[in-house]
Amino acid sequence: MECRLDGQVAIVTGASSGLGRGIALLFARAGAAVAVNYNSGAEAAEAVVREIEAEGGRAFAAQADVSDEASVERLFTETVARYGAVDVLVANSGLQQDAAFAEMTLAQWDKVISVNLTGQFLCAREALKRFRAQGERGVSRARGKILCMSSVHQVIPWAGHANYAASKGGIHLLMQTLAQEVAGERIRVNAIAPGAIHTRINEKVTDGDGAKRLLALIPYGRVGEPEDVARAALFLVSDMADYVTGATLFVDGGMALYPGFRDNG
Ligand code: NAD
Repeated sequence: MECRLDGQVAIVTGASSGLGRGIALLFARAGAAVAVNYNSGAEAAEAVVREIEAEGGRAFAAQADVSDEASVERLFTETVARYGAVDVLVANSGLQQDAAFAEMTLAQWDKVISVNLTGQFLCAREALKRFRAQGERGVSRARGKILCMSSVHQVIPWAGHANYAASKGGIHLLMQTLAQEVAGERIRVNAIAPGAIHTRINEKVTDGDGAKRLLALIPYGRVGEPEDVARAALFLVSDMADYVTGATLFVDGGMALYPGFRDNG
C-alpha cells in the first residue's frame, strides 16, 4: 500500500513557496487536485500550478489571506466550486517578525499571531464545516483530514521570537483540542513540527556560516529540505495514517532531542 490521494481535493495554504510548495507538488503527484493558496505574488503560485500541470496533475492558484475570515471562506468556496469538495487542509502559512521582547511592537505580535495561529483556526474551522456539509465521499477512510504546520518551537523556547514561539505553542493545543472534538466524526487532525528546513523563512541561518552553527543543533547532521516535510505530510493525510490523530510528527533531524546533552550535558 502506498500513500495515495487519488480522487481527493487538498487545500495547501502558503503554497507558492517553501514547505507549502513542496507539499502541493507531492500531493498532486499522489493524485490529489490541489488549491495552491497564496496571499501576494500570484506569479509564484502560478508557477507551482504550471509545475503540477506539467507532470499531469491538477491544481489552481487561489489568493486568500488566511488571517481574514471572508478571504478564507472564499478560498474554500472557490475550491469546492472548481473541484466539487475538499478532503484535506494543510494549514501551512506562517511568518516571523522577530524582535527582542522589550522591543517587540504590538503590531509585530499581532501580525504573527493573526497569520500563524488565527489563520490556522479560521482555515481549520472552515474545513470542518465543509467536511460536515459534504458528508461521505468514499475517497478516504477518514471523512476529512487537517494538518497543521507547527514548529519545533512549539516545545523549544526561542529568545527574540516570543510571538512566533507563542503562535506555535498555541497551534499544539489548537490541533489536539480539535482532534479530540472531531475524532468521533472520523475527521483526523495532526501536525508537523519541522526543525530547520531550507526555505526562505530562514535562509539567513541555513546558508553560509550560519549553516555551521545551525548544524550543531541538528544531531542528524544536515539541514532539512522541503521534501522531507512533504513526505511526512503525505503520510499523515493518507490512509496509511488512518489511526493517527492528535499527533505531532517532529521532522527535525533530532533538533528537539536536547542535543546539548549529547556529551553528558
Ligand atoms: P515560506 O516563507 O516560504 O512560506 C510561508 C508561506 O506563508 C509563504 O508562501 C507566504 O506567502 C505565506 N503567507 C504568509 N502570510 C500569509 C497570509 N496572510 N495568508 C496566506 N499565506 C500567507 O516559509 P516556509 O519555511 O515554507 O514556512 C511554512 C510554514 O512552516 C510556516 O508555518 C513556518 O512557520 C513553518 N516552519 C518552517 C520551518 C523552516 O525551517 N523552514 C521550521 C518550522 C516551521
